[in-house]
Amino acid sequence: MEPDTSVPLSESKDDLHCHECLVCGYVYEPYKGDSKRGINPGTSFDSLSVNWRCPVCSTPKSKFRDVGLADKPSGFAENLGYGFGVNVMTPTQKNLLIFGALAVGFVFFMSFYAVD
Ligand SMILES: [Zn+2]
Repeated sequence: MEPDTSVPLSESKDDLHCHECLVCGYVYEPYKGDSKRGINPGTSFDSLSVNWRCPVCSTPKSKFRDVGLADKPSGFAENLGYGFGVNVMTPTQKNLLIFGALAVGFVFFMSFYAVD
């Protein structure tokens, strides 16, 4: 068996963590970048210049806190798939339960006539 050499998702996604300005609440989103200061979309917070400041209130980079992964469309799609999975499975299981109970009940009911 080959060892799993893939990079753990949690590590590779660290680059896309959003960072919030503790002074004004501005959130730097790596996948959007910072058009005001010429930061290209896809630039992680860590790779921003140490001279980079909040585009709203000019607070230094050190006054930002990591607020975790951005709410990306891909994550939304995963949630959608999960929701559909549950929504599709539940009625099916309910139907199986109902029809199964009906069938058992019908057989049980008919058995009384068979005994008579
Ligand atoms: Zn700010």
